Amino acid sequence: MIEFKNITKKFGKLQVLEQVDLSINKPGIYAILGPNGSGKTTLIKCLLGMTIPTSGQIFVDGQDTKGKWEFRNQISYLPQIANFPKNMTVTELLRLIKTLRKQASAEQPLIDVFGLKPYLNKNMGTLSGGTKQKVNLVLALMTDNPIVILDEPTSGLDPLALLELKKLIKIEKEKGKTILITSHIMSLVEELSDEIVFLLEGKIHFRGTVDALKTKTQTVDFDEAIAQILKPSHV
Ligand code: ADP
Ligand code: MG
Repeated sequence: MIEFKNITKKFGKLQVLEQVDLSINKPGIYAILGPNGSGKTTLIKCLLGMTIPTSGQIFVDGQDTKGKWEFRNQISYLPQIANFPKNMTVTELLRLIKTLRKQASAEQPLIDVFGLKPYLNKNMGTLSGGTKQKVNLVLALMTDNPIVILDEPTSGLDPLALLELKKLIKIEKEKGKTILITSHIMSLVEELSDEIVFLLEGKIHFRGTVDALKTKTQTVDFDEAIAQILKPSHV
């Protein structure tokens, strides 16, 4: 379904990804984890063709994605940093993205879930970080695609919105989708993920279920397990 083959990415002298091989062959929720700067966003952007790998190949449904763009039509994507036009209202922005995507979209239930109705006629530039993130989520989730990529969807969200997000991700999974997610909220990752992929120093340091990680690190606590694999004895 999604295959990274020998992906290396360098920014000048900085090596961010080093010969990363990763196959995702089954639908489900895959959490991409790793410390800040470990290359999670870079890996995602390589998949989308927003960053060109220094070497290696990426396949989606068996097709090499290099130089192609049609495959993106089947991906819903939430960027970690979304620079929305400040002088556009929420409604105008929604309309713009809908026009660009040329796909059926169901934004109204998402607007309701995140309580965005009072903000629809406000300029994006006037919204708080959390509210902007809710708009970002509406834009990402309003279209129905088999691959969903959420780069730090939890950032800035209040507890209620976090709860709603979890429900939405579970619904997406039940539709048989392949979902890639990065987040620093470990409770969410533990609750939702079928597998975790832990990036460290440009390589995949661990891949498996949360339970497998706990067994490997001999701990019952997920936060503790993550801390353990960063220790030299496991590196
Ligand atoms: P993560 O998402 O895991 O926090 P990133 O993939 O955003 O990490 O970044 C990995 C590393 O690559 C960081 O050191 C970051 O500064 C660097 N980096 C990311 N994008 C660029 C870029 N366009 N130019 C130069 N360095 C970059
Ligand atoms: Mg990132």
